[in-house]
Amino acid sequence: MSPCNASRAALVLSLVACASRWPVMAGPMLSGRGVTVVFRLDDYSSRSPTGLETRLLDAFRRYRVPLTVGVVPFIASRSVYDPSPQKPAALNAAKIALLGMAVEDGIVEVALHGSSHQTARGVGWDRLVRGRWPTDTEFRGVSPDLQAEKIARGRAFLEGAFHTRVDTFIPPWNSYDRNLLHCLENQGFRALSAGRWGPLDASSPLRFLPGTCDLAGVRDAVSAARSEGDPAPVVVVMIHPSDFREAGGADGALETRELEKILAWISSQRDIRVLSIHQAAERVSDLGASRFFWNRTAFLWEITPRFMQRLFPRAERSLYLSLWTARALKLRLSLLLALFGFGAAVLSAALTLRAGMVLFSRTRGLRLVSALAAPLLGVWVLLALLQDRALRPEAALAAVLLAGGCAGIWTSVFRLRGGARGPAVAARAAGGRGVHGARSSPGISDSRTRQPIGSEARRSTGEWNPPE
Ligand SMILES: [Zn+2]
Repeated sequence: MSPCNASRAALVLSLVACASRWPVMAGPMLSGRGVTVVFRLDDYSSRSPTGLETRLLDAFRRYRVPLTVGVVPFIASRSVYDPSPQKPAALNAAKIALLGMAVEDGIVEVALHGSSHQTARGVGWDRLVRGRWPTDTEFRGVSPDLQAEKIARGRAFLEGAFHTRVDTFIPPWNSYDRNLLHCLENQGFRALSAGRWGPLDASSPLRFLPGTCDLAGVRDAVSAARSEGDPAPVVVVMIHPSDFREAGGADGALETRELEKILAWISSQRDIRVLSIHQAAERVSDLGASRFFWNRTAFLWEITPRFMQRLFPRAERSLYLSLWTARALKLRLSLLLALFGFGAAVLSAALTLRAGMVLFSRTRGLRLVSALAAPLLGVWVLLALLQDRALRPEAALAAVLLAGGCAGIWTSVFRLRGGARGPAVAARAAGGRGVHGARSSPGISDSRTRQPIGSEARRSTGEWNPPE
């Protein structure tokens, strides 16, 4: 080989070596329409399954697909669901070495996933609610100072361990409050990836990339993104070790070879680019608070009846839509739900009003019992419906019907009471007029006094005249 050829070959080899250090999919902005996919692996800690995580990282490395890993620097040593004091288990050397290699390869972005991931339920103003429905969280309701201390300490640990900047935060259980947003802003974080129901600060400089689907739903999400007509849809895939059978968890349904199939398929799609959360925060132009606000539809979808969901293109819930598409969708969904809820409440109120006017006029004791029992029954039914901590469409519909029913019952009670009182007052007034009127115009006073008295007499016997 001539020196010239040798230098050419060396140049090609060095370019290949350089290129291989960066994920092939993390390219520049797609021109025209394309789907951005972000993979987020949570719960990497000293206690997470190392063997499984090794296979997962190998798969992402093999297909050169970027991955954001949410690392718990000081995992609670016993159980993250136990709020009592526990010794923290700092990320150990073996886990640092394993993830560190993937960071060096340019495959993995390290994100801060809480501090200990230990639940703090029972803290804060909503203690009573959580006592009934214990919602796990590490940050929501915790004092701002403690939140700031946890975040600063966890970030310093990760940046020291992996020699890289950490500016993405993933709150445990996707749960946070407004104080956490301020804390992240003050400490210079760039991106937050949680769920689609958290609080929002409209002026926040943070980039929001909420999780939109799990690994099993990624193909459907991509096909929905393609058929949606959205100019820049984003899919954020949340992965947990417990998703996999190999982790030994009861929920695990996937095997790592299924992940490999998905990565191979993703890599072969020319209209998909895969980015880490940090890369997306830098390269996707519109990830601000406005987009998050209009995509915050988790609660609306939860209460949308199934027949109504068919009015919307499928899998919209698995996409992080661009601002205008998300705005149109949320407005349409809100309007339809408001109309449906209002109609159901009015119908329920009309039926119970009619029934109340019939039943209560016959049995007076039933009035008081029903007026008090209706709201109590409503609360009891709602508690029963909300036992799994989620407001389902059935529960939402039941709440609307109960509210309308209560309104109908109370209206019928007040109407009957008013109807009983009104004629009595009118009768007294008419009686007075009759005395004076007898002096001036007896003919007129007779005709005015007889009817109210007769009506009062009928009502006092419990006889009811249907309303006109
Ligand atoms: Zn977690």
